Amino acid sequence: MIKTYTIKLYPNKNKAKKLNSLVSFWRDHVDHKIKIFWEFDEVKGSYPPKEHSTGGRLIRDASVKAWQIVKGAKATKQEDKPAFDGFEIDLNQFSAYIIEDFETTEFDTWFNIISLEKHKRLKISGKKTPVFNAALETGMLKKSFKLIRKNGDYYMECFVEFPEVESGNTNVIGVDVGINHAAVTSDGVFYGSDVRDLQKRTKHRAYKGLSAVKQRLNAIAKEIVDDHPKQDFAVEQLLFKGKDSRTKAFRRKHNRWAYNHLSKQLEQIGIVKGFDVIRVNPKYTSQTCPVCGFISRGNRNYESFKCLECGFTGHADHVGAINISGRVPKDNPYLKPTERNDLL
Ligand SMILES: [Zn+2]
Repeated sequence: MIKTYTIKLYPNKNKAKKLNSLVSFWRDHVDHKIKIFWEFDEVKGSYPPKEHSTGGRLIRDASVKAWQIVKGAKATKQEDKPAFDGFEIDLNQFSAYIIEDFETTEFDTWFNIISLEKHKRLKISGKKTPVFNAALETGMLKKSFKLIRKNGDYYMECFVEFPEVESGNTNVIGVDVGINHAAVTSDGVFYGSDVRDLQKRTKHRAYKGLSAVKQRLNAIAKEIVDDHPKQDFAVEQLLFKGKDSRTKAFRRKHNRWAYNHLSKQLEQIGIVKGFDVIRVNPKYTSQTCPVCGFISRGNRNYESFKCLECGFTGHADHVGAINISGRVPKDNPYLKPTERNDLL
């Protein structure tokens, strides 16, 4: 499955102007070609006839885009000529790519983008989000992008392809607690590596009101929600002492209440923001292989997971979060319809 991630771009004034002309140029050309193709009796195949695919790369690509739009409209027996009025442009691997191994102090992503000036390319900076970074760890970045102008700002949509099984139920974000982290999400983002230490340091301290750890957990809950807008969450329904598997009891020895606090905090935010937090059966979530389903205590060794049956390896806490999301049936009526993973 392919997920979309949106990166905000930070062009300076001059570059923003050039992006603007690029988007306008694209829109005009797509619309112009739509008018031409709409008059055709037959619109078949992936590409327009050769005589309509001449000109520079952008013009050719715009022509293909128009061809697809008209083809779609005719296929659905649409009566009115479709229009392309979006402030967006499809960029293929020749017209845009991420510059490898290049970052500056302020920006960790730089795009190389085609421009209207011959032989000149634009270098535009952007900032990756923790969620996008995690996605790049587990998925594969597609070689096409979509540049979008929205309320005067520019965004780049990036597409990441994930292997089907490893993402659990992709309609819902699973949240588990880690050995060294307060929380791990099913898309592989780790939160609150400082909580363990904070817990140790403030253990015997008397306090009034909200403890430092609880405050930090509340902040983490907010971070998780901010990173996953328009998403529902799944957490474990914590069982009473003794009913849990031993491995889990061990790793939760001190963090059980913290996970519970975090889950409750997520629910609180959910009430305000309108998402659901679904509690699932925690049995064997830390010992189950998300690929083949094989359950064994031996699959797990501290922070690493290796399936004794199929050989799948992963970070044990991430695996737990994937399994938690997988416990929610895909047709759970409480789940929102699938949303794009939109970071706008
Ligand atoms: Zn397996």
